[in-house]
Amino acid sequence: MTVQIDTLPALRLLLAEQRRQGKSIGLVPTMGNLHAGHVSLVTCAKAQCDFVITSIFVNPLQFGPNEDYARYPRTLPADKTVLETADCDAVFTPAVAELYPAGLEQQTRISVPHLSTLYCGKSRPGHFDGVCTIVCKLFNMSQPDVAFFGLKDFQQFFLISRMVADLQLPLSLVGMPTIREASGLAMSSRNGFLNADQREQATAIFATLQHIARLIRNGERDFPQLERLALGQLAAAGLRPDYFHVVDRTSLLPAHSQSLELVLLTAAYAGSTRLIDNVTVEAPVHG
Ligand code: AMP
Repeated sequence: MTVQIDTLPALRLLLAEQRRQGKSIGLVPTMGNLHAGHVSLVTCAKAQCDFVITSIFVNPLQFGPNEDYARYPRTLPADKTVLETADCDAVFTPAVAELYPAGLEQQTRISVPHLSTLYCGKSRPGHFDGVCTIVCKLFNMSQPDVAFFGLKDFQQFFLISRMVADLQLPLSLVGMPTIREASGLAMSSRNGFLNADQREQATAIFATLQHIARLIRNGERDFPQLERLALGQLAAAGLRPDYFHVVDRTSLLPAHSQSLELVLLTAAYAGSTRLIDNVTVEAPVHG
């Protein structure tokens, strides 16, 4: 049985009881419209923790004024069924007023400097401050031993890791691999916005990432040239690329000539739907 709670006092009571029983607590923060990617996080959490709570909260603080907050899919009844099936112990479904009682304007914010302004942060100013703030609040409210995130949101996971380190928060993080459709398209709650043509176009995102990764593995090191090639491939597929960057995944800064551990980060629009994806790649050591 998945217990549903929607207030902070009820959450504290429930989790205090679990802690009193000596149970470890795993937290899976989500915005709902759950798919197999989310389920993989819950399954991993169940394997590692005694009590697993999934939060479902479409966080207004991380959406820009012209973004899709209002039409973001909200499918709570179906989500509850998914969580029951995944044997999730509890689901936290707070209202906006429960988490932002003083309103959004007055909310104290958590901001990871500089890295929050790159890549997705450049196209979505303030987005990662909204993400870090809500995740920090959820950590404070539930005080989990372990929190589970998807590496599909690579920059997000990097920034949350940095926040946890900088604020010396007493929990550990787990980053899980991206779950994909058979076509290679990364599962996302926003895929539901795509029509058949756009869904087809969107397969070019992972294909392009894989192509560029292959070139790097084969020794190609002209990263600006590879980025231009990738943008061209995305556009040729009918997408509107936002960015494609070869990034040093140890620092999240743009890769330089000595970078070996890389991640390719990209975002592209299919119609008006913005999709993100990434792949990690090891550059060969030159002899
Ligand atoms: P969201 O509901 O989109 O905010 O995502 C909630 C969590 O699920 C985040 O940690 C995401 O990185 C993760 N997630 C989303 N899509 C996937 C996916 N395709 N594979 C694995 N994890 C995912």
